[in-house]
Amino acid sequence: MRVLPTWVARLAGCLAIALGSAGFATGDQASEYNDMGIAAYNAGHFTEAIRYFEKSHELARDNATVRHNLCNAEQSLASELAKANRLTEAVEPLKTAIGIEPENPAPLIQLGSYYLQMDEVQQAIFRLEEAIELKPGELAAHELLGEAYYRDNDLPSARVQWDYVLKMEPSRKGLKERYDKAFREESVENGYRRGESRHFKVSCPKDTPSLLRSQVLTALERAYLNISRKLDGTFPPTPIQVVLYGDGQFSEATQMGENIAAIFDGKIRAPLTDGKGALLNELEMERRLTHEYVHVAERAIAGDKIPWWINEGLAQTLSQDLESNEGALLRQEKAAGNLFSLTALEAHQLKAALTPERLNLAYAESHAAVKTLWDRYGQRRFLQMLRALAQGGQTEAILRDNLGIDYATLQEDMFINLP
Ligand SMILES: [Zn+2]
Repeated sequence: MRVLPTWVARLAGCLAIALGSAGFATGDQASEYNDMGIAAYNAGHFTEAIRYFEKSHELARDNATVRHNLCNAEQSLASELAKANRLTEAVEPLKTAIGIEPENPAPLIQLGSYYLQMDEVQQAIFRLEEAIELKPGELAAHELLGEAYYRDNDLPSARVQWDYVLKMEPSRKGLKERYDKAFREESVENGYRRGESRHFKVSCPKDTPSLLRSQVLTALERAYLNISRKLDGTFPPTPIQVVLYGDGQFSEATQMGENIAAIFDGKIRAPLTDGKGALLNELEMERRLTHEYVHVAERAIAGDKIPWWINEGLAQTLSQDLESNEGALLRQEKAAGNLFSLTALEAHQLKAALTPERLNLAYAESHAAVKTLWDRYGQRRFLQMLRALAQGGQTEAILRDNLGIDYATLQEDMFINLP
């Protein structure tokens, strides 16, 4: 299961861009380049605009307007790359923008938000703290910094940032919900014991047996190595935060039903018990943690652009075999005409809309469909498809372009090797 906020992207998208052409004598060459830059900028040609503004900047080093225009153009280029989910590339123009106009907090905030989207939490904190030092009171920066502290498991610091934003703007979109969620978790996790391995930081109840704690860390490190290898050396940013809950605490903290095995919402959260109070056995624990870790890796590859059935189907495929009870369920529901269309299984908020029985079917279908693709086309082509998804677009068209298969064929073919 994966539940992730998309608001970080929204905050990065609302930075105001304004261009100016003041401060030159008529006929000045710097002014001409600046005007050409503005024309290119207004036509949406940011790389070209940057070239002109750079020429203008070379001729008029201390002209603040030109510096600002150049900075804006770099920011807009970054924003365009980010919209195409090319976040890694979007970092460079922002670093340039910060160098050109070091007193401007806007590119720092934008960069901080991109680092957060890439789960580079430490980098995000560094940039956002700097933005706030330059200009305290910018609400987007405080809100994002609160989120970064939260992801870093520093809840007291997150609270300070979010309290401030909510005081200034009580109806700030979505913040109250995130705030309440964080502090509901905090009240449950208060007094938890922390442990860590090379790539994970784990919190769990104080009375967790030490053998279980070390089994959990071993299972996580194994997933890190095995899954990353299966996904072509995708190693997500670390440390990855993991919270393990005692009996009853998982649903108390997450407000999820007992039928949910675990979630990844930026942190991996999993119960230690089976819902009846008994500790999960080692294999089941490892299966759940591996499933959630696959979500961490998927997010590193394609952000939030992966449709539900591929996201969950891959997590299932890489964490457990397709079982005969899933096969039986699929055959039975197919005969009854009850299967979901794969289009219906693309929606991210599926979990909330379905009964436990229908959700079970949705998982089985996703599992069978992805396993069919993974086994038939191999990891290299499957990954190529995931990377294409990251660029955005319609899922079935991407499937057809990259693997040459459409939804109707896939939904037939997935029954061929069904156990
Ligand atoms: Zn999942």
